[in-house]
Amino acid sequence: MPPSHRAGPGPRLSRQESLFPLGDLYPETAGDPSPETAGEPTPGPARTRPDRAPAPAAPSPEAARLLDVREIHAEPAAAASPRGRQILARFPHARLIEVDSHWRVPHLHGNEGNVERWVRVKTETLVLGVRKTLTTRPNGRSADWIAPGASNGCAMACAYCYVPRRKGYANPITVFTNIDAIIAHLGRHVAGQGVKPEPNQCDPSAWVYDVGENGDCSVDALICDNTADLIRAFRSWPTAKASFATKFVNRDLLGLDPRGRTRVRFSVMPPRDSRMLDIRCSPVAERIAAAGDFLEAGYEVHFNLSPVVLRPGWEADWGELLRHLDDVLPPAVKAQAAAEVILLTHNRELHEVNLGWHPRAEDLLWRPDLQQAKRSQNGDTNVRYRTGVKGPAVQRLRELIAAHAPWLTLRYAF
Ligand code: SF4
Repeated sequence: MPPSHRAGPGPRLSRQESLFPLGDLYPETAGDPSPETAGEPTPGPARTRPDRAPAPAAPSPEAARLLDVREIHAEPAAAASPRGRQILARFPHARLIEVDSHWRVPHLHGNEGNVERWVRVKTETLVLGVRKTLTTRPNGRSADWIAPGASNGCAMACAYCYVPRRKGYANPITVFTNIDAIIAHLGRHVAGQGVKPEPNQCDPSAWVYDVGENGDCSVDALICDNTADLIRAFRSWPTAKASFATKFVNRDLLGLDPRGRTRVRFSVMPPRDSRMLDIRCSPVAERIAAAGDFLEAGYEVHFNLSPVVLRPGWEADWGELLRHLDDVLPPAVKAQAAAEVILLTHNRELHEVNLGWHPRAEDLLWRPDLQQAKRSQNGDTNVRYRTGVKGPAVQRLRELIAAHAPWLTLRYAF
């Protein structure tokens, strides 16, 4: 169970003495004292910190909708780091709770009972940790390489999302604060690859690194500068390119000057499916409408046509979506756009969890008549559309793209 206490206004900490002095955490500029703390002595010695984070700007309406952070579970080293301090300063009213490991927050991980609080946990809780394992894995589909992510988890709540299956269902954002180490690792990996020897479907000339495998970098950018730091790093690596899929339009990213070295993949699906499945995400039409602005700001803009959910009427709705792309996207976006198509995979455990909070989604996602078991690369047992169903559906989608959006290069479909 989550702690029974709720955060009141003003910084309140738990077990903070073992972390570091309170005065180091909350800049005086973080806001007026709350009614609750006004008149009380400031805990801990007042001191000047060279790495003091600036006063937090007022959150955008999008940020306020997604994140109302009330409690931050932090490993001590993560909270004490410059990035950790930036985050704590951005959410000055959140209660800080020390944890030994970001993987072991008892009421957050491995507890499907949190299903009743599914969205509230995502809105009100952050976890800060130090990423111990820095490994870049080969991929070959969405990207050449999967980078060690700077976060894990998401404030959005797509009903088909695979991240909570791995993480234990209650799945708020964990931010890894050692972004410098992550970027240093990536710099070494990029240097080690040299120039890409030949084109492939990921990119004709750059090694593509997926930097957002287990979350959404656009949402992470509401919390701290990890996404901005990654984008800046990649713009200085001429042989590499960052890439991340997103379902959230964060216009703050438009000012980061990626100089063509970051690929944003806007995930889209028919709005009829999205309204049922993409919980808390930006509307599909908004994602598509943002594509031109992101291209103009220096991003490469691709699309993820995913997940494709087979249901009565799916072909007509995907045809309509592709016609919408054709109608509204500027010619410059079409000239460089490519897409990946991924048919839905699902999972029995996630199905059971979803029945507890969003059973109507399962009418779309759980189709034993069309699905078969599949052992995934990481050993999980998932379900996917049956052989004999999936192949023809992929072929049909290829035909729809050829008919309605012939300018859209299909990077791969499976
Ligand atoms: S946006 Fe991505 S990471 Fe976030 S819940 Fe949806 S599928 Fe999962």
